[in-house]
Amino acid sequence: MKRVYNFSAGPAVLPEEVLREAAEEMLDYKGTGMSVMEMSHRSKAFEEIIQTAEADLRELMQIPDNYKVLFLQGGASQQFAAVPLNLMKNGVADYIVTGQWAKKAYQEAQRFGKAVKIASSEDQTFSYIPDCSDLPIDEDADYVYICQNNTIYGTVFHELPNTKGKPLVADISSCFLSEPVDVTKYGMLYGGAQKNIGPAGVVIAIIREDLIRDDLPKTVPTMLQYKTQADADSLYNTPPCYGIYICGKVFQWIKKLGGLEEMKRRNEEKAAILYDFLDSSKLFRGTVRKEDRSLMNVPFVTGDDALDKEFVAKAKEAGIENIKGHRSVGGMRASIYNAMPKEGVEYLVDFMKKFEADHT
Ligand SMILES: *Cc1c(COP(=O)(O)O)cnc(C)c1O
Repeated sequence: MKRVYNFSAGPAVLPEEVLREAAEEMLDYKGTGMSVMEMSHRSKAFEEIIQTAEADLRELMQIPDNYKVLFLQGGASQQFAAVPLNLMKNGVADYIVTGQWAKKAYQEAQRFGKAVKIASSEDQTFSYIPDCSDLPIDEDADYVYICQNNTIYGTVFHELPNTKGKPLVADISSCFLSEPVDVTKYGMLYGGAQKNIGPAGVVIAIIREDLIRDDLPKTVPTMLQYKTQADADSLYNTPPCYGIYICGKVFQWIKKLGGLEEMKRRNEEKAAILYDFLDSSKLFRGTVRKEDRSLMNVPFVTGDDALDKEFVAKAKEAGIENIKGHRSVGGMRASIYNAMPKEGVEYLVDFMKKFEADHT
Protein backbone atom coordinates (compact mmCIF):
# COMPACT_ATOMS: atom_id res chain seq x y z
CA MET A 1 0.00 0.00 0.00
CA LYS A 2 1.25 3.45 -0.89
CA ARG A 3 -0.24 6.71 0.42
CA VAL A 4 0.54 9.97 -1.39
CA TYR A 5 0.74 13.47 0.03
CA ASN A 6 -2.64 14.78 -1.03
CA PHE A 7 -2.84 18.58 -1.19
CA SER A 8 -6.39 18.63 -2.57
CA ALA A 9 -8.64 21.54 -1.59
CA GLY A 10 -11.53 19.12 -1.14
CA PRO A 11 -12.48 16.36 -0.82
CA ALA A 12 -9.25 16.32 1.07
CA VAL A 13 -6.84 14.32 3.16
CA LEU A 14 -8.21 12.63 6.29
CA PRO A 15 -6.21 11.43 9.30
CA GLU A 16 -4.75 8.03 8.48
CA GLU A 17 -5.61 6.85 11.97
CA VAL A 18 -9.28 7.59 11.38
CA LEU A 19 -9.29 5.71 8.08
CA ARG A 20 -7.63 2.69 9.69
CA GLU A 21 -10.15 2.63 12.51
CA ALA A 22 -13.02 2.90 10.04
CA ALA A 23 -11.51 0.04 8.04
CA GLU A 24 -11.31 -2.13 11.13
CA GLU A 25 -14.95 -1.43 11.93
CA MET A 26 -16.14 -1.78 8.33
CA LEU A 27 -17.71 -5.24 8.57
CA ASP A 28 -18.72 -5.26 12.22
CA TYR A 29 -19.24 -2.01 14.07
CA LYS A 30 -18.72 -2.71 17.77
CA GLY A 31 -20.34 -6.11 17.80
CA THR A 32 -23.47 -5.08 15.88
CA GLY A 33 -22.51 -7.49 13.11
CA MET A 34 -22.98 -4.80 10.48
CA SER A 35 -21.29 -1.77 8.98
CA VAL A 36 -22.39 1.73 9.96
CA MET A 37 -23.38 1.97 6.29
CA GLU A 38 -25.93 -0.77 6.77
CA MET A 39 -27.47 0.34 10.00
CA SER A 40 -30.76 2.10 10.69
CA HIS A 41 -30.42 5.77 11.50
CA ARG A 42 -32.94 5.09 14.28
CA SER A 43 -30.83 2.35 15.85
CA LYS A 44 -29.26 2.62 19.29
CA ALA A 45 -25.78 2.34 17.79
CA PHE A 46 -26.30 5.20 15.36
CA GLU A 47 -28.04 7.34 17.94
CA GLU A 48 -24.90 7.07 20.02
CA ILE A 49 -22.69 7.93 17.03
CA ILE A 50 -24.54 11.15 16.19
CA GLN A 51 -25.00 12.21 19.81
CA THR A 52 -21.34 11.65 20.62
CA ALA A 53 -20.31 13.52 17.47
CA GLU A 54 -22.42 16.51 18.47
CA ALA A 55 -21.17 16.47 22.06
CA ASP A 56 -17.54 16.29 20.93
CA LEU A 57 -18.02 19.13 18.45
CA ARG A 58 -19.68 21.23 21.15
CA GLU A 59 -16.75 20.57 23.44
CA LEU A 60 -14.11 21.33 20.79
CA MET A 61 -15.70 24.61 19.67
CA GLN A 62 -17.16 25.49 23.08
CA ILE A 63 -20.55 25.93 21.48
CA PRO A 64 -22.94 27.66 23.89
CA ASP A 65 -26.24 25.96 24.80
CA ASN A 66 -28.29 28.52 22.90
CA TYR A 67 -26.84 27.32 19.59
CA LYS A 68 -28.17 24.30 17.69
CA VAL A 69 -25.84 21.96 15.84
CA LEU A 70 -27.33 20.52 12.66
CA PHE A 71 -25.95 17.76 10.45
CA LEU A 72 -27.29 18.49 6.99
CA GLN A 73 -26.86 17.47 3.36
CA GLY A 74 -26.78 19.28 0.04
CA GLY A 75 -23.25 20.61 0.34
CA ALA A 76 -22.22 24.05 1.42
CA SER A 77 -23.78 25.24 -1.83
CA GLN A 78 -27.28 24.38 -0.65
CA GLN A 79 -26.77 26.74 2.27
CA PHE A 80 -26.32 29.57 -0.22
CA ALA A 81 -30.11 29.29 -0.62
CA ALA A 82 -31.04 27.99 2.83
CA VAL A 83 -29.42 30.94 4.61
CA PRO A 84 -31.51 33.65 2.91
CA LEU A 85 -34.64 31.45 2.93
CA ASN A 86 -34.39 31.05 6.69
CA LEU A 87 -32.78 34.24 7.88
CA MET A 88 -34.23 36.94 5.63
CA LYS A 89 -37.07 38.43 7.61
CA ASN A 90 -36.89 41.97 6.29
CA GLY A 91 -35.75 40.57 2.97
CA VAL A 92 -32.37 42.32 3.10
CA ALA A 93 -28.88 40.95 3.67
CA ASP A 94 -25.37 42.35 3.29
CA TYR A 95 -22.66 40.31 1.58
CA ILE A 96 -18.90 40.73 1.68
CA VAL A 97 -17.58 39.19 -1.51
CA THR A 98 -14.03 37.90 -1.09
CA GLY A 99 -14.01 35.01 -3.53
CA GLN A 100 -16.02 32.73 -5.72
CA TRP A 101 -17.84 30.97 -2.90
CA ALA A 102 -18.93 34.27 -1.36
CA LYS A 103 -19.94 35.48 -4.79
CA LYS A 104 -22.04 32.40 -5.44
CA ALA A 105 -23.74 32.82 -2.06
CA TYR A 106 -24.39 36.49 -2.86
CA GLN A 107 -25.85 35.66 -6.27
CA GLU A 108 -28.08 32.93 -4.87
CA ALA A 109 -29.40 35.23 -2.15
CA GLN A 110 -30.57 37.64 -4.85
CA ARG A 111 -33.22 35.07 -5.78
CA PHE A 112 -34.87 35.49 -2.42
CA GLY A 113 -34.51 39.12 -1.48
CA LYS A 114 -32.33 42.17 -1.61
CA ALA A 115 -28.75 41.02 -1.28
CA VAL A 116 -26.34 43.95 -1.08
CA LYS A 117 -22.66 43.68 -1.87
CA ILE A 118 -21.16 45.97 0.78
CA ALA A 119 -17.50 45.12 0.10
CA SER A 120 -15.51 43.13 -2.42
CA SER A 121 -11.94 42.30 -3.33
CA GLU A 122 -12.72 41.22 -6.87
CA ASP A 123 -10.82 44.25 -8.25
CA GLN A 124 -7.56 42.43 -7.43
CA THR A 125 -8.56 38.82 -8.16
CA PHE A 126 -9.67 38.33 -4.55
CA SER A 127 -6.07 38.49 -3.34
CA TYR A 128 -6.88 40.39 -0.14
CA ILE A 129 -9.55 40.94 2.51
CA PRO A 130 -11.13 44.41 2.35
CA ASP A 131 -11.25 46.70 5.37
CA CYS A 132 -14.47 45.72 7.13
CA SER A 133 -14.23 47.95 10.18
CA ASP A 134 -16.83 50.50 9.07
CA LEU A 135 -18.96 49.20 6.23
CA PRO A 136 -22.31 50.65 5.14
CA ILE A 137 -24.39 48.01 6.90
CA ASP A 138 -28.01 48.25 5.87
CA GLU A 139 -30.30 49.27 8.71
CA ASP A 140 -32.73 46.55 7.67
CA ALA A 141 -30.13 43.87 7.06
CA ASP A 142 -31.14 40.54 8.58
CA TYR A 143 -27.52 39.39 8.58
CA VAL A 144 -24.04 40.10 7.26
CA TYR A 145 -22.48 37.27 5.28
CA ILE A 146 -18.85 36.26 4.84
CA CYS A 147 -16.89 33.32 3.53
CA GLN A 148 -14.30 33.25 6.29
CA ASN A 149 -11.54 31.29 4.58
CA ASN A 150 -11.39 31.63 0.82
CA THR A 151 -10.44 28.16 -0.33
CA ILE A 152 -9.66 29.11 -3.91
CA TYR A 153 -7.71 32.31 -3.30
CA GLY A 154 -6.03 31.51 0.00
CA THR A 155 -7.16 34.48 2.07
CA VAL A 156 -8.78 34.49 5.49
CA PHE A 157 -10.56 36.99 7.73
CA HIS A 158 -8.10 37.20 10.62
CA GLU A 159 -10.46 39.75 12.09
CA LEU A 160 -14.22 39.51 11.78
CA PRO A 161 -16.11 42.39 10.16
CA ASN A 162 -17.85 44.97 12.28
CA THR A 163 -21.47 44.07 11.59
CA LYS A 164 -22.83 46.91 13.71
CA GLY A 165 -25.00 44.56 15.72
CA LYS A 166 -26.35 42.47 12.84
CA PRO A 167 -25.91 38.68 13.05
CA LEU A 168 -22.82 37.43 11.26
CA VAL A 169 -23.23 34.37 9.04
CA ALA A 170 -20.01 32.65 8.00
CA ASP A 171 -19.17 29.88 5.58
CA ILE A 172 -16.28 28.18 7.37
CA SER A 173 -16.03 25.15 5.08
CA SER A 174 -12.27 25.35 4.65
CA CYS A 175 -11.25 26.52 8.14
CA PHE A 176 -13.63 24.44 10.27
CA LEU A 177 -11.79 23.27 13.43
CA SER A 178 -8.47 24.69 12.23
CA GLU A 179 -8.17 26.96 15.28
CA PRO A 180 -10.22 28.07 18.29
CA VAL A 181 -13.31 30.10 17.48
CA ASP A 182 -15.60 32.33 19.52
CA VAL A 183 -18.99 31.04 18.42
CA THR A 184 -20.80 33.84 20.26
CA LYS A 185 -19.53 36.31 17.65
CA TYR A 186 -21.66 34.60 15.00
CA GLY A 187 -25.35 34.17 14.38
CA MET A 188 -24.58 31.14 12.28
CA LEU A 189 -21.56 29.20 11.07
CA TYR A 190 -21.66 26.39 8.58
CA GLY A 191 -19.41 24.35 6.40
CA GLY A 192 -19.15 21.33 4.18
CA ALA A 193 -17.26 18.50 5.84
CA GLN A 194 -15.10 17.51 2.90
CA LYS A 195 -12.42 20.15 3.44
CA ASN A 196 -11.24 19.81 7.02
CA ILE A 197 -13.61 17.45 8.81
CA GLY A 198 -14.75 14.35 6.97
CA PRO A 199 -16.14 12.95 3.75
CA ALA A 200 -18.34 14.83 1.30
CA GLY A 201 -22.06 14.60 1.97
CA VAL A 202 -22.20 16.23 5.38
CA VAL A 203 -22.72 19.92 6.11
CA ILE A 204 -22.55 21.09 9.69
CA ALA A 205 -24.47 24.21 10.68
CA ILE A 206 -24.27 25.93 14.06
CA ILE A 207 -27.12 28.38 14.54
CA ARG A 208 -28.19 30.63 17.37
CA GLU A 209 -31.64 29.49 18.44
CA ASP A 210 -33.34 32.86 18.14
CA LEU A 211 -32.56 32.84 14.41
CA ILE A 212 -34.45 29.59 13.87
CA ARG A 213 -37.89 30.69 12.82
CA ASP A 214 -41.20 28.87 12.90
CA ASP A 215 -43.03 31.50 10.88
CA LEU A 216 -41.39 30.94 7.50
CA PRO A 217 -43.45 31.36 4.33
CA LYS A 218 -45.13 28.15 3.16
CA THR A 219 -43.00 28.22 0.02
CA VAL A 220 -39.84 27.34 1.93
CA PRO A 221 -39.37 23.56 1.46
CA THR A 222 -39.73 21.55 4.67
CA MET A 223 -36.27 20.05 4.27
CA LEU A 224 -34.66 23.48 3.93
CA GLN A 225 -36.16 24.89 7.12
CA TYR A 226 -33.69 24.91 9.98
CA LYS A 227 -36.65 24.45 12.32
CA THR A 228 -37.44 21.06 10.78
CA GLN A 229 -33.89 19.84 11.29
CA ALA A 230 -33.47 21.41 14.72
CA ASP A 231 -36.72 19.93 16.09
CA ALA A 232 -35.73 16.48 14.84
CA ASP A 233 -32.11 16.64 16.07
CA SER A 234 -30.94 16.24 12.45
CA LEU A 235 -32.97 13.03 12.10
CA TYR A 236 -36.02 14.35 10.26
CA ASN A 237 -35.08 12.03 7.42
CA THR A 238 -32.13 9.73 6.83
CA PRO A 239 -29.00 11.76 7.49
CA PRO A 240 -25.64 11.04 5.83
CA CYS A 241 -24.95 8.38 8.47
CA TYR A 242 -21.55 7.13 7.38
CA GLY A 243 -20.23 10.65 6.84
CA ILE A 244 -21.37 11.70 10.30
CA TYR A 245 -19.65 8.63 11.74
CA ILE A 246 -16.34 9.62 10.13
CA CYS A 247 -16.75 13.25 11.24
CA GLY A 248 -17.22 11.94 14.77
CA LYS A 249 -13.98 10.00 14.53
CA VAL A 250 -12.17 13.12 13.35
CA PHE A 251 -13.55 15.07 16.33
CA GLN A 252 -12.16 12.38 18.65
CA TRP A 253 -8.83 12.48 16.86
CA ILE A 254 -8.63 16.26 17.38
CA LYS A 255 -9.62 15.92 21.03
CA LYS A 256 -6.94 13.31 21.58
CA LEU A 257 -4.29 15.56 20.03
CA GLY A 258 -5.19 18.47 22.31
CA GLY A 259 -8.13 20.29 20.76
CA LEU A 260 -8.26 23.42 18.66
CA GLU A 261 -5.36 25.21 20.39
CA GLU A 262 -3.13 22.35 19.31
CA MET A 263 -4.63 22.36 15.79
CA LYS A 264 -3.80 26.06 15.54
CA ARG A 265 -0.25 25.48 16.75
CA ARG A 266 0.27 22.73 14.20
CA ASN A 267 -1.37 24.66 11.39
CA GLU A 268 0.71 27.77 12.06
CA GLU A 269 3.85 25.69 12.16
CA LYS A 270 3.02 23.96 8.87
CA ALA A 271 1.97 27.16 7.09
CA ALA A 272 5.14 28.96 8.24
CA ILE A 273 7.32 26.29 6.65
CA LEU A 274 5.67 26.93 3.30
CA TYR A 275 5.26 30.72 3.52
CA ASP A 276 8.82 31.24 4.77
CA PHE A 277 10.11 29.34 1.80
CA LEU A 278 7.87 31.25 -0.63
CA ASP A 279 9.11 34.56 0.79
CA SER A 280 12.74 33.60 0.27
CA SER A 281 12.34 31.80 -3.04
CA LYS A 282 13.73 33.17 -6.29
CA LEU A 283 11.35 31.08 -8.38
CA PHE A 284 8.07 30.79 -6.46
CA ARG A 285 5.91 33.44 -4.87
CA GLY A 286 2.64 33.53 -2.95
CA THR A 287 -0.29 35.26 -4.64
CA VAL A 288 -2.09 37.00 -1.78
CA ARG A 289 -1.46 39.93 0.54
CA LYS A 290 0.67 38.73 3.44
CA GLU A 291 -1.61 39.98 6.22
CA ASP A 292 -4.52 38.04 4.79
CA ARG A 293 -2.84 34.70 4.22
CA SER A 294 -4.79 31.56 5.01
CA LEU A 295 -3.35 28.81 7.19
CA MET A 296 -5.25 26.25 5.15
CA ASN A 297 -4.91 27.03 1.43
CA VAL A 298 -1.66 28.35 0.03
CA PRO A 299 -1.70 29.40 -3.63
CA PHE A 300 1.62 30.13 -5.32
CA VAL A 301 3.04 30.63 -8.82
CA THR A 302 6.32 30.82 -10.68
CA GLY A 303 4.95 33.52 -12.99
CA ASP A 304 5.48 31.25 -15.99
CA ASP A 305 2.53 29.06 -17.01
CA ALA A 306 4.68 26.47 -18.72
CA LEU A 307 6.91 26.16 -15.69
CA ASP A 308 3.88 25.85 -13.39
CA LYS A 309 2.65 23.01 -15.56
CA GLU A 310 6.00 21.28 -15.43
CA PHE A 311 6.07 21.67 -11.65
CA VAL A 312 2.63 20.10 -11.23
CA ALA A 313 3.59 17.16 -13.46
CA LYS A 314 6.93 16.52 -11.76
CA ALA A 315 5.36 16.88 -8.32
CA LYS A 316 2.85 14.19 -9.19
CA GLU A 317 5.66 11.84 -10.15
CA ALA A 318 7.14 12.50 -6.71
CA GLY A 319 3.92 11.57 -4.88
CA ILE A 320 2.60 15.13 -4.44
CA GLU A 321 -1.02 15.00 -5.58
CA ASN A 322 -3.57 17.70 -6.39
CA ILE A 323 -1.15 20.61 -6.17
CA LYS A 324 -2.58 22.32 -9.26
CA GLY A 325 -4.20 25.68 -8.55
CA HIS A 326 -7.88 26.41 -9.14
CA ARG A 327 -8.56 27.10 -12.79
CA SER A 328 -9.47 30.72 -12.02
CA VAL A 329 -6.10 31.49 -10.39
CA GLY A 330 -3.75 29.13 -12.20
CA GLY A 331 -0.40 28.10 -10.77
CA MET A 332 -0.37 25.89 -7.71
CA ARG A 333 -2.28 25.58 -4.46
CA ALA A 334 -1.28 23.53 -1.46
CA SER A 335 -4.19 22.82 0.86
CA ILE A 336 -2.68 21.94 4.20
CA TYR A 337 -5.65 21.04 6.34
CA ASN A 338 -5.54 19.56 9.85
CA ALA A 339 -4.89 16.06 8.55
CA MET A 340 -1.86 17.03 6.44
CA PRO A 341 1.16 16.04 8.51
CA LYS A 342 4.09 18.42 8.94
CA GLU A 343 6.21 15.87 7.05
CA GLY A 344 3.99 16.39 4.01
CA VAL A 345 4.67 20.13 3.98
CA GLU A 346 8.39 19.57 4.53
CA TYR A 347 8.40 17.08 1.69
CA LEU A 348 6.69 19.61 -0.59
CA VAL A 349 9.11 22.39 0.31
CA ASP A 350 12.13 20.11 -0.23
CA PHE A 351 10.72 19.24 -3.62
CA MET A 352 10.19 22.93 -4.45
CA LYS A 353 13.78 23.71 -3.44
CA LYS A 354 15.06 21.04 -5.74
CA PHE A 355 12.86 22.23 -8.57
CA GLU A 356 14.08 25.77 -8.01
CA ALA A 357 17.72 24.71 -8.05
CA ASP A 358 17.13 22.93 -11.36
CA HIS A 359 15.42 25.97 -12.92
CA THR A 360 17.39 29.01 -11.81
C1 LIG B 1 -15.85 23.82 -1.27
C2 LIG B 1 -16.54 25.02 -0.75
C3 LIG B 1 -17.90 25.26 -0.98
C4 LIG B 1 -18.75 24.33 -1.83
O1 LIG B 1 -18.97 23.16 -1.17
P1 LIG B 1 -19.98 22.04 -1.74
O2 LIG B 1 -20.09 21.12 -0.57
O3 LIG B 1 -19.33 21.44 -2.92
O4 LIG B 1 -21.25 22.71 -2.06
C5 LIG B 1 -18.47 26.37 -0.43
N1 LIG B 1 -17.76 27.23 0.31
C6 LIG B 1 -16.44 27.04 0.55
C7 LIG B 1 -15.70 28.03 1.38
C8 LIG B 1 -15.79 25.94 0.03
O5 LIG B 1 -14.48 25.76 0.26
